[in-house]
Amino acid sequence: MRGPNARRAYRLAPRKSPRVGWAPHGHPLLPLPMPRALITAGTIYTGDPPRPGATAMVVDRGRITWTGPATEVPRPVPRERIDLGDDAVVIPGLVDSHQHLLDSQLLTGFADLRGVRSPEEAAERLRTHAASQPEGWITGWGYDAAETDGGRRPDGRLLDTVSADRPVIVMESSFHQGAGNSAALAAIGFGRDTPQSFGGEMERDRRGEPTGILWERAFSVLAWAGRKAELERLGPSSTERTLEACRTLLAQGITHVGEALASRDDIERLQNESLPLGFTLMPASGNGAFATPWDALDGPRSGQGTPHMGIGHLKLFSDGGERCALSIPLSRSLRQTTAIVRSAISDRDPTSLRVLTTAKATVTPSGFQSGTLHYAPGKMADIMSAALQRGFTVAVHALGNLGVRSALDAYQEARSRTGIDVAGCRIEHAMFIDDADLERAADLGLRFSMQPGHAVAYVRTLRITKIERFMDPVAMRKVIDAGIPVAISSDGPTAPGSALDNMRGAWDRIAVDGKPIRPDLAITKTEALRAATAGGAEACGVAEVKGSLTNGKQADFAVLNGDPFDPATRVRQTWVAGAKAWEQPAPA
Ligand SMILES: [Zn+2]
Repeated sequence: MRGPNARRAYRLAPRKSPRVGWAPHGHPLLPLPMPRALITAGTIYTGDPPRPGATAMVVDRGRITWTGPATEVPRPVPRERIDLGDDAVVIPGLVDSHQHLLDSQLLTGFADLRGVRSPEEAAERLRTHAASQPEGWITGWGYDAAETDGGRRPDGRLLDTVSADRPVIVMESSFHQGAGNSAALAAIGFGRDTPQSFGGEMERDRRGEPTGILWERAFSVLAWAGRKAELERLGPSSTERTLEACRTLLAQGITHVGEALASRDDIERLQNESLPLGFTLMPASGNGAFATPWDALDGPRSGQGTPHMGIGHLKLFSDGGERCALSIPLSRSLRQTTAIVRSAISDRDPTSLRVLTTAKATVTPSGFQSGTLHYAPGKMADIMSAALQRGFTVAVHALGNLGVRSALDAYQEARSRTGIDVAGCRIEHAMFIDDADLERAADLGLRFSMQPGHAVAYVRTLRITKIERFMDPVAMRKVIDAGIPVAISSDGPTAPGSALDNMRGAWDRIAVDGKPIRPDLAITKTEALRAATAGGAEACGVAEVKGSLTNGKQADFAVLNGDPFDPATRVRQTWVAGAKAWEQPAPA
């Protein structure tokens, strides 16, 4: 089950600056930190713990040594002074504990399919894109089947009209579903005789021929091939793409990210770059995003590296994206189905019915089940146990309530098999979770990394499936009340909106349709700021040096032009380790 490179040794990046230890200085994009400086602003939110009335901080070689009111600066007052302005609001650097920078950096080479209203419109954009890139794979990303007319998605036959000989692939915005033309399926060896395997689906027509539409584990084989082709096309220029992606994160006030899928090749490459913000790389398989990461167990382990470039939790997948695994008791599911059918008829819009049928629902004695689990019962505990024994911590993607339940079962099973505590391991998303499982997760000591931006952005799916009435989408209120430590993350680029939008969504729950989505599940501003900073740093294992503006921690902060929860507020500057890493360009 191990890859051919299992014995390859791993070298971790040397410390960049022995004096500061973990700071990223020496990076050509960052000026050296000032020796000792006083920074003042209109308001400084120190995060956790709060320091009301703070308007000043002293930073010494990248670290914070004092925060408080500007009138109480300790002597000797630093000679170097930076006044950010009376209207400036400083918050701790945002820590996005679940990001896909490695995917984001490839998107500029893909056709942008966001907002397409039909598969034909997607094909048109792919043709335009193909003309600008005359060789190799033609890849498009970003459609959302809940937004196309009738919920239709591109298939292989349509993509064959884009090109008959070049591989053409499309990926849905979530990276969990997509399609390939005949050349793309041939390139990955998928055809009529490909057996059905657990955790994914290659759709077939009535004659048994592949339609080109792929889901979950089957899709990730195709997506991985497309990603590899793009990386090869980029060659050494991928470094520039990585830096560009880093700048878009800095521009949102993000100073540290958890890269939620990093193969051993990715880890090796990123460790050799010097990047202007911090990274926690979450190891995954080199054989595809959803492949079981046996090969990653021979790579660097959780906790290795530095807080600027370190190794995080091993990433596993419990269930799908759009096909997240849901279990709904029969009485509730009947009410839900009736409501969907009724509104489909009254709105004369079949989209909701299409969503219902693509969910692959089955009726079991315990109720209505839909979606895709990535592991058969007991199988996730195998890889989890092996990972724990090798010294890894684990993070499991689990979106639906059944996905979460399966992940918790696996954690419990792995703990009893190995005797190793799973406290500090993570659940990613938990978009839907049953009340009883909140208690189980709290007892296991798990952390959650959640995305208010998903509830806000995918509101159409939540509303047309009526699921917002029957379940609790992104129930941050309940998670915090259950005593589970929580981080706000973006899962970027899967949802639009900036890091500040994402944080605000946890508090106001205003969806993209302008109406609130289950405002009873909102959390307070203080809780949201904490979850987006200290909560993220804890999830990434870097809370000792990041996540708040506290004495001894790295001076990572964002300078805003107003209240962090005002939709009009913008990021002016982002500082990493006491040096300005990004500044809003001056108006031309
Ligand atoms: Zn993700």
